[in-house]
Amino acid sequence: MEDIPRRIRDLRKRLGLASKILENMREGVIVFDSGGVIRTANRSFLEITGMSYELIHSREVSSLDLKWEGFPTFQEVFEILKEEGFWKGEVWGVHRRGTMFTCEVTLLKAEDEFLGLFLDTTERRSLEANLRSLSCYDPLTGLPNRALLCDHLAHVLFRAKIRGGKVGVVFMDIDNFKLINDTLGHEAGDCLLKAFSRRISSSLPPGAMVSRFGSDEFVVVIGPVEEVEEIKALVSNLIGRASVPFHVGDHRIYVTVTAGVSVYPLDGSNPQTILKNADIAMHHAKKSGKSTYIFYTPDLNLKVSERFMLESELREALEKEELALYYQPKFDLATDRVTGVEALVRWHHPDRGLIPPFRFIPIAEETNLIIPLGDWVLRRACLDGRRMLEEGLPLKIAVNISPNQISSGNFVETLKEILEETDFDPSHLEVEITESALIKNKREAVRILKDLKSMGVTVSIDDFGTSYSSLNYLKYFPADKLKIDRTFIGDIVNDPNDVAIATTIIAIAHNLGLKAVAEGVETEEQLIFLRLWQCDEAQGFYFSPPLTFERLLEMLRSKGFRIRGV
Ligand code: C2E
Ligand code: CA
Ligand code: CA
Repeated sequence: MEDIPRRIRDLRKRLGLASKILENMREGVIVFDSGGVIRTANRSFLEITGMSYELIHSREVSSLDLKWEGFPTFQEVFEILKEEGFWKGEVWGVHRRGTMFTCEVTLLKAEDEFLGLFLDTTERRSLEANLRSLSCYDPLTGLPNRALLCDHLAHVLFRAKIRGGKVGVVFMDIDNFKLINDTLGHEAGDCLLKAFSRRISSSLPPGAMVSRFGSDEFVVVIGPVEEVEEIKALVSNLIGRASVPFHVGDHRIYVTVTAGVSVYPLDGSNPQTILKNADIAMHHAKKSGKSTYIFYTPDLNLKVSERFMLESELREALEKEELALYYQPKFDLATDRVTGVEALVRWHHPDRGLIPPFRFIPIAEETNLIIPLGDWVLRRACLDGRRMLEEGLPLKIAVNISPNQISSGNFVETLKEILEETDFDPSHLEVEITESALIKNKREAVRILKDLKSMGVTVSIDDFGTSYSSLNYLKYFPADKLKIDRTFIGDIVNDPNDVAIATTIIAIAHNLGLKAVAEGVETEEQLIFLRLWQCDEAQGFYFSPPLTFERLLEMLRSKGFRIRGV
């Protein structure tokens, strides 16, 4: 009995000795349990990898950003370790300093725990070998780069061809990454990309690989798998995981991703085709809203033939007067009065019925039909605007201008001609030009906006926040209003990400002395929110859908409406 205190003392002594050895070893050491969760790590390990103790304690080894020689993920290494009790190989990683490190690693099974010994070989490795691995990995995130991805994909496809199975390629794009970069700074953007990469890597099943494809684009390769369902489950899991907020410095950042998926052998048999189709699907997904995914279907390409038909019919539509302008009222939020209307074009197709602009404006833009179409819209809007003035309704009429019109070289002259011809007062005209159109033709745009201003035309920057431009440019554009795109208003009440974007845009507008305008307001809650943040104007189904000109006049004449006018 009296032996026990002595034995404890002995044990303590030995443990103390063991932990001294551990602390002073040149090799990095980690101990992890059967779930792969790290229990402890010594100082050398932290020095070699540049990670902090807090960062790795209780984390899974698989979530560390390490590349295991010959294996796409740690999970597969772990399987072998459990089977054989032993694994030896080379491991790559990126140090917090941003430099690459390599280690010779021995993993051992010890009782019911596991031991990892990391011998730093960074210096020993030849410069050439370092360069080679650098050329395969993205230095910021440590993920495989595009070149390594293509290699890997070719390899996986080869395996699937021989043994059967399906391979999924998931093209992911972080929504509004540029905005985060612009508002919080590049350093925060970089931190976010790293955290995002880590989270995606740690969410992957064994055998899947994620690579950084472009600035905020990531591609995941999964397979070979038996069922497409497995790919589907992975994608929705990835999208879900991405929506859990990230902590970057003091900020909590909400991110959504949009993804496109293609599957071997259904959507292609070589890496290029499969990647291209996943990319096509991603772009279609973007159009249908954020935080979603679409599987590639040949039908996405079929839309191409539908395009040809629409193109030839659109030419005729212009001549046959099949186009019409609908008008959606805009409200001043301080006075609750109608201040103007936005003209939105529609196509009354003889067989297909009413075609919305998103189906034919892009075609018109690609074929340059947008120039005559845009002229028609301007002329029609000016005529209707003059009619409103004659009816005693002094409202501003806003017209959407396409990027091609801006870059056509004679936009201002054409506009002057139309104003003269229709005898419409320019101070009642507003043009809505998308942010991306301005950025695309910076110099031309500044000149045009100056001309418009001097004519007395109001200028709105449309779809603000949706394109990846730098806020720096904004102050060079002499505009009057910023329109917050409706995709940010949609979930403004529930999605903190949208709240951040919308309120930031309102603040940017006010800082630059511009008015903030919200579009797509559908509910009272959204309206209350916008009022709270002192948004200046709003339009949306809550107030009124776009109306035919006749219906608009009826509505404006009815008693319920108060008009402020220009
Ligand atoms: P936009 O400039 O962002 O126009 C606003 C769009 O939001 C309109 O779609 C409008 O009908 C819709 N909208 C209005 N209120 C709500 C709402 O409460 N909820 C929702 N979900 N949507 C709402 P529309 O008319 O289909 O126009 C789509 C786009 O087509 C426009 O986006 C604009 O970029 C383009 N467009 C429309 N007319 C013209 C035009 O005459 N010329 C050019 N170049 N583009 C046009
Ligand atoms: Ca617009
Ligand atoms: Ca918009």
